Amino acid sequence: SNSRKGDIGLIGLAVMGQNLILNMADHGFTVVAFNRSVEKVHNFLANEAKGKSIIGAESIQDLVSKLKSPRRVMMLVKAGEAVDNFIGQLVPHLEAGDIIIDGGNSEYQDSERRTKELAVKNIRFVGAGVSGGEEGARYGPSLMPGGNKEAWPFIKDIFQSISAKADGQPCCDWVGNDGAGHFVKMVHNGIEYGDMQLIGEVYHLMSAIGVDQDEMADTFEQWNKGELDSFLIEITRDILRYKDNDGKHLLPKIRDTAGQKGTGKWTAISALNYGVPVTLIGEAVFSRCLSALKSEREIASKRLPGPTSKFGGDKKKFLDDLKQALYAAKIVSYAQGFMLLREAAKVHNWELDYGAIALMWRGGCIIRSVFLGEIKKAFDKDPNLSSLLLDPFFLNAITKAQSGWRNVVSTAVNIGIPTPALATALAFYDGYRLERLPANLLQAQRDYFGAHTYELLGQEGKFVHTNWTGKG
Ligand code: NAP
Repeated sequence: SNSRKGDIGLIGLAVMGQNLILNMADHGFTVVAFNRSVEKVHNFLANEAKGKSIIGAESIQDLVSKLKSPRRVMMLVKAGEAVDNFIGQLVPHLEAGDIIIDGGNSEYQDSERRTKELAVKNIRFVGAGVSGGEEGARYGPSLMPGGNKEAWPFIKDIFQSISAKADGQPCCDWVGNDGAGHFVKMVHNGIEYGDMQLIGEVYHLMSAIGVDQDEMADTFEQWNKGELDSFLIEITRDILRYKDNDGKHLLPKIRDTAGQKGTGKWTAISALNYGVPVTLIGEAVFSRCLSALKSEREIASKRLPGPTSKFGGDKKKFLDDLKQALYAAKIVSYAQGFMLLREAAKVHNWELDYGAIALMWRGGCIIRSVFLGEIKKAFDKDPNLSSLLLDPFFLNAITKAQSGWRNVVSTAVNIGIPTPALATALAFYDGYRLERLPANLLQAQRDYFGAHTYELLGQEGKFVHTNWTGKG
């Protein structure tokens, strides 16, 4: 009978899978657990899963036979081939209407393909972004499900029960068709890159003007009480405070090269593909690449001269300016991220609810912040808001932050500290707000060397060519 069967099956007993299973069991669901290496199933059942509503499976067939109908099977395995492999193994055992969910960090194009391929077989596929790492998986992740919407009524209860909650609401809602869930997760990761890069630049400038590390920690602690209140500011404070066994701060001893797994890069690639100026995430990805050139940088540091000017301003005032710069650039970064979502939604016919997306990111994940609550409000007020910068709350915030932001970027240029993210945000802001840009010259150049024609102001749609040299 159905009553002794599992509510959901979960494949992949690594960090994410195990913790999600425990989370589901805590919320009253019976979970059937399976892993490619079956000894992990035995281990899990004998230890972490002991005494909980968790059943082991010895094979895919065994897993499927232990599930209620319609069957729900969620995978948390390495993205790529492993996912297609398991889908291939599952399908022969499933029936029309059954559901396969991929909770890994899959590329959104793969989720789009899988949704379509499985729909033909009457299997409902869900590509769900899962964020929040180990802690999130165990106690409440941010969940971004997309794919075949027919699956949603059958998984909504489980997903919204186990997800993080912000202001009493679940950080999980249906995102959209096909690859929409994984696309939104990808943009989330890109924004995470941007937020981290911005904080890194602020830290660099603080060091450059001679703020000591405990004072930095105190500053971040202060900032975390206001509009910058967020997980990343909070952990930065803790990292700055942390002392090694020798009583010295650990942070300066860490090698200054950053790695990456690819989701930030995917966001930047998407931005180029869709033609959306998501410049801040792009700079964040390139900054990691530049940091990785450690040995080249060491040689260059002995050869390439910097400016002679030193910081001569008031430290306290500059710290306040830094706060303004960080806030303003963060607003620009999120505005760019939502522009990318909007363009992709247009191309793919996704009906994205931007307020709901902000709420999904509001809790449970790495970019969780008070700020996202304001973004949710902005889209609730105006679901068709073309840019976050035009929402009255953010318009006011950026207006107030502007002079501090400009001072930080110009000071950084003068004293030779790179601030690619803070500066590109400002360049974007100025480019976006200026009625006239120098693209008229580009048009003229293109027409000069390639006879590409151009339009005159006020005569849009009429393309003309000029013989710029006057020669035959
Ligand atoms: P992981 O290290 O990415 O993957 C390990 C799991 O994948 C194991 O169950 C492993 O089975 C299985 N696996 C690997 N290659 C396989 C193959 N070729 N065929 C079948 N199974 C294979 O685990 P994770 O860190 O828990 O992450 C799971 C997914 O969630 C990944 O897509 C990851 O990117 C995503 N994610 C991770 C985090 C995080 O913080 N860790 C956060 C969000 C999303 P065996 O035990 O048999 O090797």
